Amino acid sequence: MTENKGKVVSVNGNLVSVRFEGTVSLNEICCVIVDGTKLKSEVIRVRGDIAQIQVYEMTNGIKFGDEVEFTGEMLSAQLGPGLLGQIYDGLQNPLPVLAEQAGWFLERGVYADGLNAEKKWEFTPTAQIGDTLRAGEYIGTVPEGPFTHKIFVPFNLLGNYTLKSIAAKGEYTVNETIAVLTDDRGRDIPISMSFRWPVKRAVKSYTERLAPSETMETKVRVIDSFFPVAKGGTYCTPGPFGAGKTVLQHTTSKYADVDIVIIAACGERAGEVVETLTEFPELTDPKTGRSLMERTIIICNTSSMPVASREASVYTSVTLAEYYRQMGLHVLLLADSTSRWAQALREMSGRLEEIPGEEAFPAYLESYIAAFYERAGYVLLPDGSKGSVTIGGTVSPAGGNFEEPVTQATLKVVGAFHGLSRERSDARKYPSIDAVISWSKYKGVTQAEKSDYCKNILLRGDEIGSMMKVVGEEGTSLADYVTYLKSEMLDAVYLQQNSFDTTDANCGKERQRYVTDKLIRVLGSEFALADKDSARSFFNRMRQEFLDWNYTEYESDAFAKLEAEIDAIYADGQGNLSHEAELLLM
Ligand code: ADP
Ligand code: MG
Repeated sequence: MTENKGKVVSVNGNLVSVRFEGTVSLNEICCVIVDGTKLKSEVIRVRGDIAQIQVYEMTNGIKFGDEVEFTGEMLSAQLGPGLLGQIYDGLQNPLPVLAEQAGWFLERGVYADGLNAEKKWEFTPTAQIGDTLRAGEYIGTVPEGPFTHKIFVPFNLLGNYTLKSIAAKGEYTVNETIAVLTDDRGRDIPISMSFRWPVKRAVKSYTERLAPSETMETKVRVIDSFFPVAKGGTYCTPGPFGAGKTVLQHTTSKYADVDIVIIAACGERAGEVVETLTEFPELTDPKTGRSLMERTIIICNTSSMPVASREASVYTSVTLAEYYRQMGLHVLLLADSTSRWAQALREMSGRLEEIPGEEAFPAYLESYIAAFYERAGYVLLPDGSKGSVTIGGTVSPAGGNFEEPVTQATLKVVGAFHGLSRERSDARKYPSIDAVISWSKYKGVTQAEKSDYCKNILLRGDEIGSMMKVVGEEGTSLADYVTYLKSEMLDAVYLQQNSFDTTDANCGKERQRYVTDKLIRVLGSEFALADKDSARSFFNRMRQEFLDWNYTEYESDAFAKLEAEIDAIYADGQGNLSHEAELLLM
């Protein structure tokens, strides 16, 4: 490890040029010393004896001649027990701890350890002396909330190691030595329950990457049935301001069928993040009844915090996700919003005077976005268990224009696209995922043929709806009008879902399959309807019944009663199932 020094030669916003001695490498962490305060920074370009560094903090006060210390280390996250339930900033400083030290207004140059150094954890050794071990294998466990936290051989140790000694079962802090490994040259390496990992490098201590083939249930009907997400897969949610991206992510974080949720609030307004911070600790996990926060990590870098650490926050969060995946857990990372992250890249790129790409984003934007989503994955681990990191990112394109570079670059790499529409959110049709533009490459909870059948009705309904805007209701045939009413009903009772009702918001896969079958029975039938008025009133009745059905507990008495009412309306309308729908339902 080298420790070099340098002096500031110029300052341009967060970008500071430093003349240094010795060697300095890219992405190395350094500190500018301003009146005795060390401001954390990262080397982003080296030219001869000048290093350009981005300062993660407010830069006022930095001047020519200020001293800079280079640490020889990369920006890294501290990994070990105690990450769950934390609220961090982008550099993994626990915000509650900073608040205690500095009060409500964060000061510059105040940093704290990512993990509590005093807390003791109940360690149980599992490896035996003499065992041959590699990075990513574990030597023992500690209980952390509802999970068994594995204590790993640090991911950065290359090759094989022999376990020389290991601590007995007992309580230890994260920094105490709990084992000694010997490398192939006989050198001893003491390890503790925590270690650091450079956040910009993907953790690869798994045996094999597997194809993401298992659906990650979000309990959101339109997602699970029509535009599903797989465990270990990636998806993006672009939408204009106020279309419901953040609310959709919050709903997902509560109900998704995963073990751990990491929320990366990146560059959005502080008010929204405060909402998350105050809301989450109060919520109970619908699966276990325990506090939701026990299985959640929040990493926030709001729009009022320095831009430079926004970039870091995205990488820090994905690193924590990969760490828990290594334990055989399923982790969902929700990043809100990746556009703000891209804007941070653009800002730094501009200051570096790089040749700008489209809309002044750096030319490497696409590869950065791709590299980020690539860190998702479903993996086979050395102990034979499987874990996953699923990444969902929101994109907030200006004016809801999906043709802009961040949305386009994201669409090239993700496996599912949930496009939110202003039109739907204005009409309060939530979640405002537009079924006409959205897509997914993953397998959903309902049979593909059934979901295609439903999507087709939505598409035709959309076409007829646009046509009706021109020719009016009178110019539309009764058959078309009925198709239109069917698609409107499907939208109202299945695509739309109330995030704030615990029964409706938490729609499991059995229920989705059951309701889809019932819907196909209605959508795939002809009814004895004399004219448009009777068609409208018939489908209005049907729609209301399905809506009420959504609010009843699955398989309860109330559920059965409403189902009987739906069947009665069907019989009343002399429903006659088409051959196509009949085949689907067999
Ligand atoms: P975005 O993150 O896209 O800017 P938000 O998620 O903050 O938008 O949503 C903006 C507002 O829209 C919310 O404050 C809420 O009033 C409303 N909203 C969004 N989603 C829903 C929903 N599923 N149910 C009810 N209201 C919603
Ligand atoms: Mg938002």
